[in-house]
Amino acid sequence: MSALAAHLYALIRNEGPITVARYMAEALGHPQLGYYATRDPFGRGGDFITAPEISQMFGELIGLWCAEMWRRLGRPRPIRLVEFGPGRGTLMADALRAIGQAMPELRTALAVHLIETSPALRARQTGSLRQVEAQWHDRWDEVPEGPVLAIANEFVDALPVHQLVRQGGQWRERLVGLAADGATLRFELSADAPAATAFLPAPLAAAAGALPDGSVVEVRPAALEMARALGTRIAAEDGAALIVDYGHAPSAPGDTLQAVRGHRFVDVLADPGEADLTAHVDFQAFAEAARASGAAAWGPVAQGRFLRALGIETRAATLLKGARPEQAKAIEQAMRRLIEPPEMGSLFKVLALSRAASPPPPGFESAP
Ligand code: SAH
Repeated sequence: MSALAAHLYALIRNEGPITVARYMAEALGHPQLGYYATRDPFGRGGDFITAPEISQMFGELIGLWCAEMWRRLGRPRPIRLVEFGPGRGTLMADALRAIGQAMPELRTALAVHLIETSPALRARQTGSLRQVEAQWHDRWDEVPEGPVLAIANEFVDALPVHQLVRQGGQWRERLVGLAADGATLRFELSADAPAATAFLPAPLAAAAGALPDGSVVEVRPAALEMARALGTRIAAEDGAALIVDYGHAPSAPGDTLQAVRGHRFVDVLADPGEADLTAHVDFQAFAEAARASGAAAWGPVAQGRFLRALGIETRAATLLKGARPEQAKAIEQAMRRLIEPPEMGSLFKVLALSRAASPPPPGFESAP
């Protein structure tokens, strides 16, 4: 049994069954034993691959998006370029390179802030960003005040979710407890109505009576807190944010909790701390929390549509000019993977925040 599994068993023996949100928080984020604290999970030899690891074009285009937003903000100095959960630091490195080429004034005006709790990944980011003066933080509220451009790619999906289950006309919470053998984890339901119903999105709370028994709804207080914090900062001090992730546009019921290990789906309870655990992002809930804090929210639009609008095909054509045949094939494959449905092109979506009453950001011109 892994040290993290032993820790969870002891926790449940002492405190009783824990929420799915607590299970996720411990499995992913335990400061010494958690999944992210103990490894670099990306790439072919790891558990999963993310867009910036597929192609440099992803981070470059996001860098250009930031440059255009900075221009529209009236070029404030300094400006904080903040990334939530930077992984290997690849997106930030690619974005900074593109910014340096397209808008060198922004490159000198910006201060890089990375929000990362994993020591292993902080070390990795230090390596990728050797030429860059960056500051690391555990939490968003440590980022100094002032205008911000914030980016989060595949960050929100890792924030803990509560799973609320409809049963006999009531809400119950899905819990992780110990099976009778004392050596396996299993799901159970809370006896009482859970406190997490306070986070139900309004449309789902209103429709609860019509949901059949067994329906699962996921709520993510940490994402709502992030949306409110970003919305408040943008409303008060100006800026913009880009949230990229997989998930649904309107809030909808569904059990989307998943575990991935070695590029395969595995049992969510089988190996805590050894597999990545995520759940889909509720973009509507995120957007509404940001709007309620005074910012404008745009989209989400499909990642494929966003990257096309930003000119990924033109960027690929430029890269193809200098490429050898095998490189050319890799560039084309990477672009298709980033923009074509059903995978990254449509399951992945992009949400933007900007100040209220501003025009649509690049890529969101015809978005709701
Ligand atoms: N954005 C990167 C990595 C995505 S994986 C990419 O696209 O490749 C999630 C990242 O978020 C990891 O760097 C992980 O260590 C970090 N992370 C997860 N939960 C976090 C939290 N609560 N606070 C800060 N960082 C977190």
